[in-house]
Amino acid sequence: MPFPQQGNTEGQAALKEALAQLDHAAERLSLDPNLAERLRHAKRSLIVNVPVRMDDGHVTSFTGYRVQHNVTLGPGKGGIRYSPSVNLEEVTALSMWMTWKCALMNIPFGGAKGGVCCDATKMSRGELQRMTRRFTFEIFNFIGPDKDIPAPDMYTNEQTMAWIMDTYSTQVGHSVPGVVTGKPVVIGGSVGRREATGGGLVNLVGAALDHLGLKAEKMTAVVQGFGNVGSVAAQELSKRGVRVIAVSDVDGGIFNQAGLDVEALVHHVDWKQPVGAFSGGVPVTNAEILEIPCDILVPAATAGQITAENAPRIRCRILAEGANGPTTLDADRILEDAGVFIIPDILGNAGGVTVSYFEWVQDSQNYFWDLPEIQLRLEKIMRRAFNEVMALSAERKVGHRMAALMIGISRVAEAMRLRGLYP
Ligand code: NAD
Repeated sequence: MPFPQQGNTEGQAALKEALAQLDHAAERLSLDPNLAERLRHAKRSLIVNVPVRMDDGHVTSFTGYRVQHNVTLGPGKGGIRYSPSVNLEEVTALSMWMTWKCALMNIPFGGAKGGVCCDATKMSRGELQRMTRRFTFEIFNFIGPDKDIPAPDMYTNEQTMAWIMDTYSTQVGHSVPGVVTGKPVVIGGSVGRREATGGGLVNLVGAALDHLGLKAEKMTAVVQGFGNVGSVAAQELSKRGVRVIAVSDVDGGIFNQAGLDVEALVHHVDWKQPVGAFSGGVPVTNAEILEIPCDILVPAATAGQITAENAPRIRCRILAEGANGPTTLDADRILEDAGVFIIPDILGNAGGVTVSYFEWVQDSQNYFWDLPEIQLRLEKIMRRAFNEVMALSAERKVGHRMAALMIGISRVAEAMRLRGLYP
């Protein structure tokens, strides 16, 4: 068994998917079985206890994880997630996807991921700060600008990154901005990082529309998840003239065929209101929202949302994946057969890690770029990856997801082959 089995079923399902994707791609690539075997395992996994004094005075012990799947191409890179679903299997699957994503984008990072099993929505700011600082302290020896660089993910944000950077810097004795990305700009963050994942995804939707000969102004979109990725994607789609007809958060969503006022919705959510409480639409569940007929479907919440069970009822032309691992391999085949144009997660949401890379470069040279420069470089890297995926998909007659995986996996495997096996 490649990994200890101790998580929940969603985590196990995510890891099973990640391993199945690797096995399928390895077969297509006729990959050396010794390399494939090494890639099936995470390089290092750290599990820590994170004791936190809660506001009422009692101490709660949270479990935290940091997994480095592969660091052949550079330091580990990947987000930190605060969610009750976090466990070793989920974090391992996510770290594996980060490895392929960085390689696909040709970014000199390996794949890592981390998280703390907690319900961040029920914790105060003080509790979150104490948990973040203690978690950082516990993984201190594992991370660093040359080792492993965390970033925001579900239920973490710029503030979380500022606390990590501060705690790490306090231990070292001087400021180390390059230990995390997705920080506030004033302490060494990059302009454009917050919008990079959703914005990069919508750039690729634009490329897909061009490819299919469709006009944005005639399109409708549905977005599942309205956090950093989903809200920016909805805003950017709306700016391009796409009619956003439904969005949701963890508690459900709203639907209006005539279109939602996305800016008003963002303002509503800024005030900590649930999406479902927004007026101007009828309520829908998270299961229903995926099945609303639309042109562009954006899953931007969590893994395992589109499965063989609901895929036959999904009616969209473009599936633009903002979340990591939202679609199972079985569902992927069903959607492909139905002619859906898939922008797979490791390509679709790679704008985030790409601008994280820019942030790390800027931090290491202490020289910061302006927004037009960031946007230009991001667009160039994403378009190149998109074109490479389209070309390999056509050449090898495989779906877009398989093509993206094959490019990422073959680059990592080639680097491992050249570096050899120690000792
Ligand atoms: P976030 O915490 O800002 O937002 C998450 C959103 O999803 C919230 O609206 C939440 O209510 C909703 N949600 C949570 N669980 C849900 C469920 N079971 N069903 C429906 N909605 C649910 O997180 P984010 O940073 O926007 O990340 C969203 C997804 O994008 C994750 O899969 C993450 O791994 C991926 N991702 C994020 C980044 C980034 O830069 N933030 C980069 C790449 C990929």
